[in-house]
Amino acid sequence: MLKDSDRIFTNLHGTQGWTLKDAQKRGDWDKTKTLIAKGPEWIIQEVMTSELRGRSGAGFLTGKKWSFMPKESKDIPHYLVVNADESEPGTCKDRDILRYEPHKLIEGALLAAVAIRAHIGYVYIRGEFHHETERLKIAIQEAYDAGLLGKNAAGSGWDFDLHIHRGAGAYICGEETALLESLEGRKGMPRLKPPFPTVVGLYGCPTTVHNVETLAVIPTLLRRRGAWFASLGTPGNTGTKIFCLSGHVNKPGNVEEIMGIPLKDLIERHGGGVRGGWNNLLAVIPGGSSVSLLPKDICETVAMDFSSLASVKSALGTGGVIVMDKSTDLIRTIARFSKFYMLESCGQCTPCREGTGWMWRMLTRLADGKGKPEDINLLEDVTHAVEGYSICGLGDAAAWPVQGLIRHFRLEIEQRIRENHAETQH
Ligand code: SF4
Repeated sequence: MLKDSDRIFTNLHGTQGWTLKDAQKRGDWDKTKTLIAKGPEWIIQEVMTSELRGRSGAGFLTGKKWSFMPKESKDIPHYLVVNADESEPGTCKDRDILRYEPHKLIEGALLAAVAIRAHIGYVYIRGEFHHETERLKIAIQEAYDAGLLGKNAAGSGWDFDLHIHRGAGAYICGEETALLESLEGRKGMPRLKPPFPTVVGLYGCPTTVHNVETLAVIPTLLRRRGAWFASLGTPGNTGTKIFCLSGHVNKPGNVEEIMGIPLKDLIERHGGGVRGGWNNLLAVIPGGSSVSLLPKDICETVAMDFSSLASVKSALGTGGVIVMDKSTDLIRTIARFSKFYMLESCGQCTPCREGTGWMWRMLTRLADGKGKPEDINLLEDVTHAVEGYSICGLGDAAAWPVQGLIRHFRLEIEQRIRENHAETQH
């Protein structure tokens, strides 16, 4: 369990103020100049020591990503881009950071900019986040007025400007290269990689794209040092994480906990338990709609971190925990997810464009109990024809929940077909 003294997000629920004055009372912007004076190499080394992994889903090591950026920026600018396009179903953590802890993000952006030698940053924010955008605008202006952004930011000698760019609510713009396309004024369509954004990013220049939560932990991590962060959790799965609890729990909401907390503890202690009690649990999606669901028996023991969830063929993803009790029609739920991915596919690769529609249509049929038991294998084949055969992760994200459903609930799908068949015979 996370000790209060190790908590990074001390205003996650908005019980205190969010302005610069309030944030400074909580320790934000404390000795930022001193941290910057230690230099980019020191900042990168501390983040490497911390083993911080990106909080957007992929879990790439943040320090390593920074080390890929060129060491000099004489000829072409470097850019920092903040991915605030939070759209993963079941996930609402970045939204609350923007609402209640915007200065953690702004200070984190400045420190990251120093590390990657960027003088300009953009916050690409989800179009639907109107109130969050307005609040962030005020917080950024407060930072400018206090000399914490702009020329000689925080008295450090480093110039850094931070701009806001609103998206238009397309899920695919959460993919970093689609986000860059959109930021440049084009349709949000993922780019072929390589080259990666750290080499050819925004306007063809070296760019680092980071999730809101990842950047927001940086100031505390640097103040308390990388070794402190690494001491929380387990090797390779360090620090704290904001989990979003939704679905059939008694107390839905966001909670910051230690990485690796048992899923059962998370639900029971912080979510107030499953509606109707633990034995009423059917399955949990542990990391947003893009990951495989887990049946109750795995939920009993699995830990909430990258490695443990990968070992049960699921993923930590965004930490969006969707709890489903026995009243849930799982086949119809995953069919609904498939429809979402079909609608959000940008359509430029055939396996994703066609496969997501196939998955939705087949699952809808199976949810109605129509079709044949052999269709389940056919559906599984379709998922494997999409997974790994597309430009970006949306194809995989569409395939994994379907694979999880078949892996753990094949018998239920077969039973639905049998029951429907028996009914139509009478
Ligand atoms: Fe577009 Fe889907 Fe291909 Fe991604 S995988 S680039 S969303 S068609």
